[in-house]
Amino acid sequence: MALSPTSGFHHATPGRGDAFCTFSGQVIAALKLYREKGVSGAFLDLDAHFGNSIEHSRAFAPDLSLAVPVGANINPAGEGQGYLDDLQKKLEMLKEQILAKRIHYVVFCHGADSHENDPYGGQLSTEQWLEASRMVYGWVKEIDTARGAPLPLSLSLFGGYQHMDFVLPLHASDLAICLETLCGVQTGFQPEERIPQGIEPNWYGKGQWSTE
Ligand SMILES: [Zn+2]
Repeated sequence: MALSPTSGFHHATPGRGDAFCTFSGQVIAALKLYREKGVSGAFLDLDAHFGNSIEHSRAFAPDLSLAVPVGANINPAGEGQGYLDDLQKKLEMLKEQILAKRIHYVVFCHGADSHENDPYGGQLSTEQWLEASRMVYGWVKEIDTARGAPLPLSLSLFGGYQHMDFVLPLHASDLAICLETLCGVQTGFQPEERIPQGIEPNWYGKGQWSTE
């Protein structure tokens, strides 16, 4: 398991950066792994926004469809429980691909902007956002057991545009669930006590980016 405390790189295309993504890091990393190690990966993209880098790079790099097979760039649709239900369905499909040895590693990106208090996103309540973490890490644990070996797992942060006093406790909560579920580490971290409640989505200046 590895953690890259970096942003997403999931909107850039071969020709240019886009949104806050300077280059398509997902595509570059996946191609490098495929070309050097012969392995294929899946991206669990739980950012609020569709990660288009992979789909928009397939024509540019034909072997990307071997590095990240079609269907292995997972972006849940909907809001609230519908979002979680769609995630569950897609995890089950991906599990079959992993156990069939067609996918060899997973990158999980739990964007903080899929929380309803983010000014640029907002599909999930705090409890639903944490439930998504529990679903993913519980799913990894099931796969580890079925394979008899840990699934290579990489974590990244992706979007999050609320104040850092809100974004960082979300990511810390996700990591605590990861450590408790997969490593048996009791962190003692209490997400409900650490994630601020009742923050307005526009608390950090919705749509008012300023250089002042
Ligand atoms: Zn986003």
